[in-house]
Amino acid sequence: MKDFSSLKDVARKLGATDVALIDPGEITVRDELARMCIEPRCDGYGRSMSCPPHVGGPGAMRDWCREYRQALVFLVEVPREVAMSFERNEVLALIHEIASGVERAAKKLGAEKARAFAGGSCKELFCSQYPECRVLDEGKPCRNPHLARPSMSGHGIDVARLQELAGWRLPDPREKPKEGSMAHFTGLVLLD
Ligand code: SF4
Repeated sequence: MKDFSSLKDVARKLGATDVALIDPGEITVRDELARMCIEPRCDGYGRSMSCPPHVGGPGAMRDWCREYRQALVFLVEVPREVAMSFERNEVLALIHEIASGVERAAKKLGAEKARAFAGGSCKELFCSQYPECRVLDEGKPCRNPHLARPSMSGHGIDVARLQELAGWRLPDPREKPKEGSMAHFTGLVLLD
């Protein structure tokens, strides 16, 4: 098995709070999580190449989890007020930046099929000034191939389980937050 431990430093330098390497075979994929992109419908649904129905979905993710040998999971922790403010999109853009940066570094290390996943619609984050996704509308390359990565939720990834696999004991986001509490965002890179 290749040694990808240096990718943890790459993720940290790009802004990750914590990073772990896990076995992709342990990742939980749930169809009902991917269905939540449709009902209740997410604003990003159908608007970019990175979101359903234009991604492989849970079926493809299950195949990849069997095929890939390692996975890097990273965490970005920010004050809850930031996550609830207009700055949220900056945090989501950072998740794409870290995921794509780690993917590039992994390819340089020989993981030619490295595949990164992020959260938040790339249409809203990187192409909000354009009426359409260039890939979907014009059949041309993505305007932001160095940044935009597919959605984890569109692939049915159970993010809470992913965080557990990484060894992070994080508060349940459904519980009433305590004052001064932190919010947590996660990204994933599959490594061959
Ligand atoms: S062109 Fe814009 S909206 Fe389409 S996939 Fe690329 S970043 Fe996303």
